[in-house]
Amino acid sequence: MTIDLRGYTPQHPQLYRLAADGRSLEFFYAPCPACGKLSFPAMVPGCAHCGASLQDVQPVAHAGGGTLLEFVTLHVPLLPGMDTPRIAADIRIAEGVIEEGVIAVPDESALRVGMDLQAVGVPLPAGEVFTCRFVPADAGAAA
Ligand SMILES: [Zn+2]
Repeated sequence: MTIDLRGYTPQHPQLYRLAADGRSLEFFYAPCPACGKLSFPAMVPGCAHCGASLQDVQPVAHAGGGTLLEFVTLHVPLLPGMDTPRIAADIRIAEGVIEEGVIAVPDESALRVGMDLQAVGVPLPAGEVFTCRFVPADAGAAA
């Protein structure tokens, strides 16, 4: 099932936007003028790698995704309204940048540490808003 999310609003517009295909996401990074590496989120005041100021840096968008580092299935909601079970993961989204994400697959059997993940938009039940989820990169390309 492919849902075209064009016209939907990102839940966190400072972090990501919909890519031209209407499904995958682009993340906003801050490129460091000193060391050239990317920081995320883009509105952090200093480079995550060398500490240089990012105050006047314009964010850049790159295809959202990364490398799966570890994952766990949560069966108990950590917050009210959180849907379970959900698969929470640590994902390396850029060199030296590790973020927590949620993987949208039915169960862990499709996942392997080290695999490539792609960020996609998933509509929220609340209305025309999408949030960020990760799927295996080859599955995302086939959809
Ligand atoms: Zn830097």
